[in-house]
Amino acid sequence: MKTALWFGKHNNNKVKCLLCPHYCLIDECKSGICRVRTNIEGELYSDVYGLVSALRADPVEKKPLYHFFPGRFILSIGSIGCNLRCRFCQNCEISQVSVQDAGHFEYYEPEAIVDMARLVKNNIGIAYTYNEPTVWYEYMVDIAQRSKQAGLKNVMVTNGFINPEPLGHLLEFMDAFSVDLKGFTESFYRINTSSHLEPVKNTLEQIHAAGKHLEVVNLVIPTLNDDETVFEEMVSWIAAQLGKETVLHLSAYFPRHRATEPPTPVSTLLRLNKIARRQLYFVYIGNAPDENNKTLCPSCHNSLILRVGYHVSIIGLDAEGRCKSCGFLLFENF
Ligand code: SF4
Ligand code: SF4
Repeated sequence: MKTALWFGKHNNNKVKCLLCPHYCLIDECKSGICRVRTNIEGELYSDVYGLVSALRADPVEKKPLYHFFPGRFILSIGSIGCNLRCRFCQNCEISQVSVQDAGHFEYYEPEAIVDMARLVKNNIGIAYTYNEPTVWYEYMVDIAQRSKQAGLKNVMVTNGFINPEPLGHLLEFMDAFSVDLKGFTESFYRINTSSHLEPVKNTLEQIHAAGKHLEVVNLVIPTLNDDETVFEEMVSWIAAQLGKETVLHLSAYFPRHRATEPPTPVSTLLRLNKIARRQLYFVYIGNAPDENNKTLCPSCHNSLILRVGYHVSIIGLDAEGRCKSCGFLLFENF
């Protein structure tokens, strides 16, 4: 347990958590919506500080990040809890439980995680992922500060439901973000995730304005968020607010947790991919057998990177991340 950051004290020993847009007002001995931030005698504590439920070196493409040090590895760590309640959660065993109900986890000091990251071969740094890292904010900050000092990169894989001030502090240490944009209507977010769309859009804009590397993930769920008109509105917003060079991943869904919709047909992904490519340079399909994941130069259409699963072949980029054919700078993080 560790005293939480970002809370205010209220009457009758209540506390208000200011970390995410739920602004939970929490009674003594109770926790917030995320189940892992608890009021003890009028102070807010993180229940998950140092508690690691998953830890492994993954290809950076698995986060997914396709334009950030392609072909390298990243030490990926996760804990317990999430501030959303997605019906279709793919990681519900760790995201939708409290510490008391969770299965196996181990305690690590922040320094131990950084030391481990240094030892992994071909590793660029540390990714905070698997469950929602916002809810173990204090631990993530403590690791990220040390990791940055050690010359490692920090990556946050997030639902984007975080308030601007805590995010602003995180931006000092984070190098890249993979952010879910789960749909593009308020009703989708409210009904299917128990959260709201607007704060996620604000997060994306704040990350972009800070100049951090950003890739957006859209899990396509039949009948829930595959409407072409709404999808096109989302793509237009990404192009206008985040830039045409923003990487968009269209990810296939499979029934999990409380969702019973059928899996996403590949034909749906291909149809939406075609729509997105009218406005964005880089659109990829994930979690599906299709191999439409070649990276082409947006300037001369030379083939730059080939991918088969998580295997990456860099064929058309020079050592500085420029297209060998026309000199277009594609990768600043290479
Ligand atoms: S981080 Fe958790 S406790 Fe804090 S406002 Fe969000 S859901 Fe509530
Ligand atoms: S944000 Fe991610 S981890 Fe949290 S409930 Fe939704 S899908 Fe699960």
